[in-house]
Amino acid sequence: MSDISAFLRAIRDEHALRSALAHHETLPAQPPSYAPGLPTGSEALAPVLAAREIARLYSHQARAIELLEADRAADGAEARGRNVVLATPTASGKTLVYNLPVLRRTLEDPEARALYLFPLKALEQDQRQRFEEDVRALGLPGARIRAAIYDGDTPTAARKKLRDDPPNVLITTPDMLHAGILPHHATWRRFFEGLSLVVVDELHTYRGIFGAHVAQVLRRLDRVARFHGAAPQIVAASATIANPGELAAALANREFEVVQADGAPRARREVLLFRPEASPYTLAANLFRLAVGLGLRTIAFTKARVVTELMHQWIVEAEPGLAEKVSSYRAGFLPEERREIEARLFSGELMGVISTSALEMGIDVGGLDVCLLVGYPGSQVSTWQRSGRVGRKGAAAIALIAQPDALDQYLISHPRVFFSRGYEHAVLDPHNREIAGAHLPCAAAEVPLRAGERWLETDAARANVAALEESGELLRSDSGGEWFSARRRPHRDVSLRQIGASYAIALDGERSRRPEVIGSIGSGNVYSECHEGAIYLHRGRQYLVTELDPENRNVWVRAVAAPYYTRAISQKETSILTRDRSRPMGNCKVVQGRLKVTTTITGYERRRVRGQDLLGTEPLDLPPTSFETVGIWFEFPDEIPRAIEAAELHVMGGIHASEHAALSLFPLFALCDRHDVAGISYVRHPELLRAAFFLYDGIPGGVGIAASLFERTESLLDATLQMIADCDCEEGCPACVHSPKCGSGNRPIDKQAAVMTLRLLLARDPLPAIDRETESLDEPPATLEAESAAADAPRVLYFDLETQRSADEVGGWHNAHLMRVALACVYDSHTQEFETFHERDVAALIERLARADLVVGFNVKRFDYQVLRGYTERDLETLPTFDMLDAIHQRLGFRLALAHVGEETLGRGKSADGLQSLEWWKQGRLDLIEAYCRDDVALLRDLLGHAEAHGHLCFRTRNGERVRLPAPWKIPELLEEIRAGRGPIASNRRAAPRRAAGRTRTGYAGPLFDGDPKPR
Ligand SMILES: [Zn+2]
Ligand SMILES: [Zn+2]
Repeated sequence: MSDISAFLRAIRDEHALRSALAHHETLPAQPPSYAPGLPTGSEALAPVLAAREIARLYSHQARAIELLEADRAADGAEARGRNVVLATPTASGKTLVYNLPVLRRTLEDPEARALYLFPLKALEQDQRQRFEEDVRALGLPGARIRAAIYDGDTPTAARKKLRDDPPNVLITTPDMLHAGILPHHATWRRFFEGLSLVVVDELHTYRGIFGAHVAQVLRRLDRVARFHGAAPQIVAASATIANPGELAAALANREFEVVQADGAPRARREVLLFRPEASPYTLAANLFRLAVGLGLRTIAFTKARVVTELMHQWIVEAEPGLAEKVSSYRAGFLPEERREIEARLFSGELMGVISTSALEMGIDVGGLDVCLLVGYPGSQVSTWQRSGRVGRKGAAAIALIAQPDALDQYLISHPRVFFSRGYEHAVLDPHNREIAGAHLPCAAAEVPLRAGERWLETDAARANVAALEESGELLRSDSGGEWFSARRRPHRDVSLRQIGASYAIALDGERSRRPEVIGSIGSGNVYSECHEGAIYLHRGRQYLVTELDPENRNVWVRAVAAPYYTRAISQKETSILTRDRSRPMGNCKVVQGRLKVTTTITGYERRRVRGQDLLGTEPLDLPPTSFETVGIWFEFPDEIPRAIEAAELHVMGGIHASEHAALSLFPLFALCDRHDVAGISYVRHPELLRAAFFLYDGIPGGVGIAASLFERTESLLDATLQMIADCDCEEGCPACVHSPKCGSGNRPIDKQAAVMTLRLLLARDPLPAIDRETESLDEPPATLEAESAAADAPRVLYFDLETQRSADEVGGWHNAHLMRVALACVYDSHTQEFETFHERDVAALIERLARADLVVGFNVKRFDYQVLRGYTERDLETLPTFDMLDAIHQRLGFRLALAHVGEETLGRGKSADGLQSLEWWKQGRLDLIEAYCRDDVALLRDLLGHAEAHGHLCFRTRNGERVRLPAPWKIPELLEEIRAGRGPIASNRRAAPRRAAGRTRTGYAGPLFDGDPKPR
């Protein structure tokens, strides 16, 4: 009988533990929720459940099985069932969800086959055993239903047997499917013909590069299955993540039904957050000994193999009696060793295990009581996946012991964030060009690519095929409709775990002999980690790089025992290839696009292992390397750097520190390692001509991580600001703004400037105005595209918008793109109806404007279009536009307010003004803003109508005389002028507007006079 309360008491009684305890929270138990009976058609499987001592299925299990079998039951065996993704916690019985339908199908049809995919070989054995146990429970005579593993360890003789007489369940990894099965699918004919279900377990691990590769492998699998006349369903099982349906759909290129309401019971869990003063490992080892000493079965998860070994060593040294009762567990152990540890843990012979992430997935080690997380596992997904190991039998304790890095410290200081943050999004980009480009020849070698097939539906895929044809990797058929692979086995050069070419790391001995290869490294990291003179760490050993040979892709190393480590010093440049989408955020503009990142390693530092003192710096002469990727960036208005300067803080130090801190919190938002994303800061970006910082996928082609943050940048920067502001340090430390990966050695870094930068970016503080008297605001001459003549009457859109913020709030009219749309109204001359657009509809609004024959507005170019500039990369200047204020100005040499012209011409002015509208926005009265905005649009429409009918409008001079304003504006002629590139719109005669020239946004309701009236 475990005793968690004794464990909690002991912690309270021991000063060192109690003082490190930062937070304690109790998560209540959750009762099970059962389904009423077995799913229809599964009655024959009752013995399987009986053997597992399962009386009833949990509700989520039953639901998933029902969905999988639904269509089949209705339309017979030929029908295609639904694809299901099940996202529930560890130990919620996911295996049964696919084993039961597979058993049912094989009982009905001995030729039915299933393919089980697991991301790690280590998971295969466990799954085969469980399937075989279920088969045995059925008590069938002979070996009627078989499961077999097919992977790199399968002996050659056995392979042929498996192909000729395939098992009902083939268990393998995506890597083996890619390299060993799909390329030889003809020899697997019997297997593919019967393939009815594909199981993708541990779905959440298929993200980033690996996910993008597996997405391609699953597309290839789908093609091959179709080639053999099969159309298998997919059932995917995932740890709990924010977006299981989306991930599965991106991965498998089809729709999924999502089941995530968990019916499995949960025990009460005591969650303890520790902030150790000294070493987190010492504290973890002490907690481990304490728990095991109380008879609690304990698992500790570390983040590094070496920590696993150290903790094991310390525990046994401190308490030799535990030598037989605890073990370490990590990659690098032989499979037999691992099986033995798992079995001893399961049987209870072992009281505790210290493991790397290797034990996070799949393998059943029975119920445990205490889970120690030595360092935040990097995601909520992993945190709850790992701690799901405990509490199956009764109450359990979970302790997180924070390490001194930014993310850990942030979560320990903000326990509410830790407990309520929710699960991360797992993202992958199935369209990564580099990865898709590597798999297209593989697919073509399997079954020739055909024009029009599903895989080639996207423009990106077609462009990829064209490029591969150009480079000679794909050969086009004479008829033109098919492509073949130029090589017979293109898959040999494609590894699912990395991108681009890899370098062999070999021991530098006698090179005449066959060199001993100790590992490999991707071309993306080879210059920074394996330059000459670098210390390369491999399995806890140090190696000195003696030569980097790019020509033959070799890294030569020698084992050494050096008291130092090395760190590359690099310079980076980012150039913008495309701007794909943008939006205003706070006081800045967020943009997403494709980037080209060029890195030059200029030298390296040698630092002492203990204490990290700098021992020396060596220069390096290496060529620049570059790659294309996807990123998001923040474009600063000039006020931000100026304000920071004015506060006598370091501008670059502030931007750089903000970038670091934002990067370190990325894992809170998307499932990724800190190494998957990178950043770069500019005080003045050479293309943008303004300050900016970039956050991008550090993986060629991008895998969707940065892009997934585009909509959530407020939350990201908000958390970043909170983290920095709450850190106790004075000038920045590894727990807030320092990055271990910084290419410039964390210089310059200015913590205070970062707080100010982020507050300004998020508009927590208003932008201070800059004196812009000397700056010309002249707009560039408008370029006009010839519009094709519309056959029927031109579609004229009368248009006006209201904003959320005033010019003052964004630092002036030049930042109109930060004012944000509150609401826009359009009157369409075709439908003769008004339409309203809210901020979320801005894209639709812009689309609408772009399709009009003529857009009519009042000061639309200097104001409305400038506001919309925050949301679009389209050059709105090119839209066919009639700006009435512009035309008035050209005629008179000064401007008039709309209200004034309306009053004098039609006897009706505006129903409100801009200030009022801003007030309404603050009160949430969108209804009032809408009414006002419509009135304005109607007024504009009627004024142009008046001008068309009478050839003039009216206004009152300063002397009080009501006079005619010549207005020879006829829509057909206006259109003609626009097409010809002349007329009011194309005119360059524009006076520089003063600040007051912004229509009524200043709150000025009377006529606007820039100078004395000068009738022409
Ligand atoms: Zn700090
Ligand atoms: Zn940096």
